[in-house]
Amino acid sequence: MKSDPFMVIVNQIKCKACGGCVDSCPIGAIAVVQMETDSGSISVAQIDSDVCGNCGYCIDRCPSMAISLAGDQKIKRPPKQ
Ligand code: SF4
Ligand code: SF4
Repeated sequence: MKSDPFMVIVNQIKCKACGGCVDSCPIGAIAVVQMETDSGSISVAQIDSDVCGNCGYCIDRCPSMAISLAGDQKIKRPPKQ
């Protein structure tokens, strides 16, 4: 488990499950998954907080502006490979 607080969050209402964030993540920390809700099963992006490096590439990629940083946290962006 990382000691840093988890910084990157997905708004499940805004997410359209397009998969763009999955393609943008350099370390495979985000996936589109099925989730059960009171109104049935939905597809939504989910971030693995133990893997996410808080680089923010998925935030840039999301056309629905469904991904954001929690609180006043800052992106820790590594160089693109
Ligand atoms: S890019 Fe945005 S809308 Fe598409 S799956 Fe990811 S969070 Fe959802
Ligand atoms: S912030 Fe970076 S490491 Fe975390 S899910 Fe988004 S693209 Fe992947």
